[in-house]
Amino acid sequence: MISSIKNSGKFLNLGIRNFHSSSSNYVNTTKLFINGKFVESKSKEWVEVKNPATQEVITKVPISTMDEMKAAVDAAVKAFPAWRDTSVSNRARIMQNYRALIIKNQEKIAECITEEQGKTLPDARGDLFRGLEIVEHSCSVPSLMMGETVENVSKDVDIYSYLQPLGVCAGVAPFNFPAMIPLWMIPMAIATGNTFVLKPSERVPTTTMILVQLAQEAGVPDGVVNVIHGQKDAVNFICDDPNIKAISFVGSDQAGKHIHARGTANGKRVQSNMAAKNHACILPDAAKERTLDAMAGAAFGASGQRCMALSAAVFVGETKDWIPELVQRAKNLKITAGKEDGADLGPVISPESKERIHRIIQSAIDEGAKVVLDGRNPKVPQQYAKGNFVGPTIITGVKPHMTCYKEEIFGPVLVCLESENLDDAITLINSNPYGNGTAIFTQSGAAARKFQHLIQSTNCGINIPIPVPLPFFSFTGSKGSFLGSNHFYGKEGVKFFTQIKTITSSWKDDDVSAGVATHMPVLGKQ
Ligand code: NAD
Repeated sequence: MISSIKNSGKFLNLGIRNFHSSSSNYVNTTKLFINGKFVESKSKEWVEVKNPATQEVITKVPISTMDEMKAAVDAAVKAFPAWRDTSVSNRARIMQNYRALIIKNQEKIAECITEEQGKTLPDARGDLFRGLEIVEHSCSVPSLMMGETVENVSKDVDIYSYLQPLGVCAGVAPFNFPAMIPLWMIPMAIATGNTFVLKPSERVPTTTMILVQLAQEAGVPDGVVNVIHGQKDAVNFICDDPNIKAISFVGSDQAGKHIHARGTANGKRVQSNMAAKNHACILPDAAKERTLDAMAGAAFGASGQRCMALSAAVFVGETKDWIPELVQRAKNLKITAGKEDGADLGPVISPESKERIHRIIQSAIDEGAKVVLDGRNPKVPQQYAKGNFVGPTIITGVKPHMTCYKEEIFGPVLVCLESENLDDAITLINSNPYGNGTAIFTQSGAAARKFQHLIQSTNCGINIPIPVPLPFFSFTGSKGSFLGSNHFYGKEGVKFFTQIKTITSSWKDDDVSAGVATHMPVLGKQ
């Protein structure tokens, strides 16, 4: 699809430039974006990007050379002074243009997400929409960047503070939200006056290329946003380059811990959103039909490849008897390529991921749990026989020591645990090392309040699974799911991408000597 869009010139109709060279017959290459230009990499190392529903090679993405990565940072360094000094209102106007262009092209972007990531088209639209909301939020950057003032802290002395950008910032993104996560990063970073170097996931690079093309069309000047591609070496370059002041990371534990350690050791700010095990606690007084609908959607939507996917259910008391009805809902879901009408689950990202999920399902059986719905090797239409499909899987009798509970599965697999009462459920959930998301299903205000008060996971839903906060709040993962001091977007995001400068100023309309004071100034006493 991506190549056919290009070949039929539809990208041009969209105003989206051709991102791929036609250097080979059918395998296009993904370009770098440096100083406002789409540049063909000189790399000798390339990674194939495959459509996860068919294994068809969509594009090849370069492992950027050192010179290319340096050129991207140089461009960002050079662009910074003028961008910092662009009025905050004009930066907001550019974000408004950006919003309009994303909306205009939303369907094509969603198709691109579906093709390279595999998720269903409605889900791809949701992926983009949640990112678009951050762009919308960044349009209010003049108020987001307001500082504070106190007049008369002393006679004729005022103190005021304001927020200034850091300089060049960088982002490293995962595969599972090709639009949303780059848009968690770029709008907040640049609207606040920074310049940016993004390394998208090498598994889904094309969506990012469209997003930066649109940013350029919106009026983002050359060098303000740059894209490099690669894997570990590109990430290490970002961690080490002294020009880069802050790194936003979203992805797995292994990479997130590494980037946090290496980036902070080099004196950079790092915000690192990592893996998760998101629990739902189901109380007997919950609205059963709505709860089971919500659970099936949250556990199996996006084939479980959301950092906030519902991956563990704690059934309290007799609610364990609801499991057969959950199984029935899961069985009704349609598994096929994300672009097909009515698809509920597309493929997982890669054959390796599929193998991992299979292995963990098998481990559950080996360790004594029961697979009441087994999604291994589901039936899919013949043309997708090579796709990485895993169907909804439900495992019961799961205990905290089991591999399927301890590891993030990142597939359409729900592990079910049981608990006598709410207190025990809270203790069980809090014992889990992760702290990304959690939800309670109940009709009791008292139970919900107790849960929200005591639960340690810091994105908490009440009768809402996948409680990803809107951008005027922040995404507040915790415990093993987060490293760093400031979270993504919202007030926290503004803090992450800015530093506070505080001015103490004295303006007097006379010039009378007050004597030389060598003691510590005690302005507040005067
Ligand atoms: P990943 O860690 O494999 O890749 C993320 C990025 O890090 C990519 O750009 C990749 O090139 C780079 N990378 C991979 N391995 C690296 C290494 N060893 N050293 C340095 N860089 C490395 O993650 P993924 O598979 O793309 O994404 C899925 C993971 O992301 C899941 O664990 C999911 O929970 C997590 N995630 C978390 C959130 C959140 O907000 N907490 C959101 C989305 C995804």
